[in-house]
Amino acid sequence: MTALPTFRFHPEPLRSGSIEPASIVCSACDQARDHVYVGNCYVEDDFDGEICPWCIADGTAQRRFGMTFHEADPSAGAGDLALVDELEERTPGLCSDSPVNWPWCCDQPMAYLEPAGHAELIARHPELASMVVPQLEAEAGLTRGNADRLFRKLRRDQPPRAHVFQCLGCEVPRAEIEREPD
Ligand SMILES: [Zn+2]
Ligand SMILES: [Zn+2]
Repeated sequence: MTALPTFRFHPEPLRSGSIEPASIVCSACDQARDHVYVGNCYVEDDFDGEICPWCIADGTAQRRFGMTFHEADPSAGAGDLALVDELEERTPGLCSDSPVNWPWCCDQPMAYLEPAGHAELIARHPELASMVVPQLEAEAGLTRGNADRLFRKLRRDQPPRAHVFQCLGCEVPRAEIEREPD
């Protein structure tokens, strides 16, 4: 089995669930591969093929199909389009039902760790867990009671859920909350 490529802004795509072990023939490189990408994918034409992690890493999927794996906020990284390209075109995206902001810190995209619910935040990201309710009060304008109710409703496998990021520079953690679709 060939080692997976390295993605600095998405260092553990197996743990996050965006890449899974599977026997596929990749639509971009036409090779038999042992992993498949299952995260978000943006492409103009209908696309029902399968993409391997190596074709994300080396840009083949982007060049062949015009595919991106995340759509960055146009204001993100205004000064550094190379980083925006790396994030959109050569980094596995996350799995979500609606678009999730990919936060930046220290002038670069933060590293995406994994989706998390209330239980996973408390067990694996205790520092971040204590920041979620104040964040929802400040950024989403929720009352303390509503913020606390939403925090307790978070589930890893469906919205509402948290997507956990960490800065590669200062290491500060950050939760992006994916709300339920209206
Ligand atoms: Zn491929
Ligand atoms: Zn930072």
